[in-house]
Amino acid sequence: MQDATFTAPGRFWRGNLHTHSNRSDGVLPPKEVCRRYREEGYDFIALTDHFIGEYDYPIVDTRPFRTEGFTTILGAEVHSGAMENGELWHILAVGLPLDFAPPNSPGFRPIDGMETGPELAMRCREAGAFVAVAHPEWGGLSLQDARSLTAAHAVEIYNHGCQVGADRAEGFWQLDRLLDEGSALTLCATDDAHFTEPDHFGGWVMVKSESNEPEALLRALKTGSYYSSQGPEINNIEVSAKHVVVNCSSVATVIVQGKGSAAVAKHGEAITRAEINLARFHNSPWIRVTIIDRAGKRAWSNPIWFDQN
Ligand SMILES: [Zn+2]
Ligand SMILES: [Zn+2]
Repeated sequence: MQDATFTAPGRFWRGNLHTHSNRSDGVLPPKEVCRRYREEGYDFIALTDHFIGEYDYPIVDTRPFRTEGFTTILGAEVHSGAMENGELWHILAVGLPLDFAPPNSPGFRPIDGMETGPELAMRCREAGAFVAVAHPEWGGLSLQDARSLTAAHAVEIYNHGCQVGADRAEGFWQLDRLLDEGSALTLCATDDAHFTEPDHFGGWVMVKSESNEPEALLRALKTGSYYSSQGPEINNIEVSAKHVVVNCSSVATVIVQGKGSAAVAKHGEAITRAEINLARFHNSPWIRVTIIDRAGKRAWSNPIWFDQN
């Protein structure tokens, strides 16, 4: 069995799925945000400004900033309803139509009678978006909150802005518990860049697709045909009954994680191929792979499910 991402036709395209501009609380105009990502070597970004009344519900039309070799996906970070802790939901929606109907979300605080977060997320999904649970650790997202967002394709497991500004970057705890419950979610790393601090170029996705067209990228995101990275590259993952074999750029550690406490690590020098025994995962219907380079930069595969026969 092989992680289908690596056998899918096409090549990998590097993209940031979560970005803000001065159309909400970021500091740079959309054009300059696109320019910086393009010059930094990204193949695409999604500009995802805060979709609230205070900013006039922006879905920024970034199509004029597409160039040869660089594209954009329209989207927004959408907000409505309260999480269990009483704070407003933050939901990432990549691939929204420009005329997506706003909820009644005037600002960053929930008000009475709003559409719930899960309802809004479902509207985004039905409108064609790739939906991700945004920054779970930063938001104090409960497991019940995460469980309720049934429209989600993915969980943000690394948010660079939340790392830089709050040291609360991750979403693995929520993701892994939902995987344990059988939810077929994927994971993503993002920047959530506002350019107010060094919150950019820190976490991205590598999407496998035949072309760098928005629709093709969205299809690949929705089917999980991508991995996430801070730098290292995953070249192949092959799973047999007894082993998982990982091929990657030079790293110091390869870890396989599974249900509950199941995890196995392999450490070494300049590892580009690692074979890890799966005995520890006999009880786990899923595994995922993390690689870590000498500088501590990580890359993460999406979850791989064993055939449930
Ligand atoms: Zn947010
Ligand atoms: Zn954001």
